[in-house]
Amino acid sequence: MKILVINCGSSSLKYQLIDMSHEEVVAKGLVERIGIEGSMLTQKVEGREKYIIQKPMNNHQDAIKTVLDALVDESNGVIASLSDISAVGHRVVHGGEKYAESVLIDDTVMQALDECVKLAPLHNPPNITGIKACRNLMPEVPMVAVFDTAFHQTMPTEAFVYALPYEYYEKHGIRRYGFHGTSHKYVSSVAANMLGQDIKDLKIITCHLGNGASLTAIKNGKSIDTSMGFTPLEGLVMGTRCGDVDPAVVTFMVKQLGLSAAEVDNVMNKESGILGVSGVSSDFRDVEGAAASGDKRAQLALNIFYYRVRKYIGSYAAAMGGVDCIVFTAGLGENSPETREAVCEGLEFLGIKVDKAKNKVRGKSELISTSDSTVKVLVIPTDEEMMIARDTLSLI
Ligand code: AMP
Repeated sequence: MKILVINCGSSSLKYQLIDMSHEEVVAKGLVERIGIEGSMLTQKVEGREKYIIQKPMNNHQDAIKTVLDALVDESNGVIASLSDISAVGHRVVHGGEKYAESVLIDDTVMQALDECVKLAPLHNPPNITGIKACRNLMPEVPMVAVFDTAFHQTMPTEAFVYALPYEYYEKHGIRRYGFHGTSHKYVSSVAANMLGQDIKDLKIITCHLGNGASLTAIKNGKSIDTSMGFTPLEGLVMGTRCGDVDPAVVTFMVKQLGLSAAEVDNVMNKESGILGVSGVSSDFRDVEGAAASGDKRAQLALNIFYYRVRKYIGSYAAAMGGVDCIVFTAGLGENSPETREAVCEGLEFLGIKVDKAKNKVRGKSELISTSDSTVKVLVIPTDEEMMIARDTLSLI
């Protein structure tokens, strides 16, 4: 049985066709510049040359039609006909409070997704457009929505209600939702498998450290707290996002510096974080390189990042009454030994000891703690597409 996984952004679309009998990726690809001049699809199939289609794609429907054409193409495709696709799994950023699980899409779900647009005005609209386009082109194929927020719906009230007047939560839905849920869920289940333990017996802290970054405290298989909040801006320092700051900084920026709401939003989301402090780049590789050649602000940016992750690990150990396992994932978590070592430095008192030789690993699953470390430290490449495909399979 083959499942197509679709992740629609505003001008790009990622896809994977996964054969679920062996959980094997049959083809994967990317459509870029949707609705912009120079639209292009690149499809990769193991052992073959890249297949590139360059043609105007004015909207998401054009893009998805091109994806389907690429998959069934006589010489470059991987399936004989579209009837080989049993279902489509769609990544959806925000499911609000309504969705604590993935869901089979019907008209009622489409309406609920529209209602969530106000919570994620940048992300949900392209996700919805992608679903509509797929439903038009493949009306008979079942479709599933998998939400970034769903995994965190198990958080207890004290972890998700902000200490604002309660009506802000009740009337406007202002609360912590958390994101990257599909990734946190996936790596925590792989961690339990690697340790040969039931996830229900474990206290796990998952560190998704990429351009966007978040930590989650997972107790007995359930998310009980996570560092991103009402939006993905809260929590850790990220490539271009500031993460936690005193909320009064916002009013200071408006009143004293004369910035508009949109400008504050832009500064905090796009000009802050590692980029803002270092002045070098939002890409950790560039900032690590600059720090290594003596750039003090680059080093400071990294130190702030490490310190914040370390503080969150400490606070989540406190929230769960201990920790059995820490998982590093995403671009930086999977590929930067320096980050993992720096984050764990000074956490020996919690029973966390990283083995420097094992920690050299990049991009594959590995236990990197010493044999006497009471907390197991793991590197696990995330695979949100596989998680989406598994959820889709289980719902159809
Ligand atoms: P992601 O958002 O998960 O794709 O992660 C992107 C981030 O991971 C970027 O800031 C990259 O610089 C960082 N990254 C990827 N590979 C490495 C590496 N080998 N060393 C350090 N950082 C890396």
